Amino acid sequence: MKKKLNVSGKKRMKLTPQRMAIFEYLDGNRSHPSANDVYKAVIERFPTMSFATVYNTMDMLKTKGMVLELSIDPDKKRFDPNPVPHHHLICVHCKKIVDVHRDFSLDLSEEERGDYEIIGNHVDFYGVCKTCSKKDRKEEREK
Ligand SMILES: [Zn+2]
Ligand SMILES: [Zn+2]
Repeated sequence: MKKKLNVSGKKRMKLTPQRMAIFEYLDGNRSHPSANDVYKAVIERFPTMSFATVYNTMDMLKTKGMVLELSIDPDKKRFDPNPVPHHHLICVHCKKIVDVHRDFSLDLSEEERGDYEIIGNHVDFYGVCKTCSKKDRKEEREK
């Protein structure tokens, strides 16, 4: 049997300094960055890094299950490197996403579940963050 990383038929992940920089940026990152955010952060250290490298690396990490791709933000794909299952709270204005670590004990009835075996759930909360609500109030005053 082949080693796990080769199953997809892809080459093993080569740890180039550029990729290391991407991993380091993602490690412990809770800002749910887009590929462009990652690019902007990493290019400071590697000015020759191309966006394609970042994009392909993110895609590869996604394929390997090391980051989750979030579809919350309709403008751009966002990535979540937090491996612990969690829920999200999203600001509807600036699209800031924060993690919510709580077990809501959500359950489905047998009828709803049908022949599915449930493996998890994810809840998105929507709101307005402090920065945005302050901005809102300021704009109100200036009207
Ligand atoms: Zn906001
Ligand atoms: Zn998250």
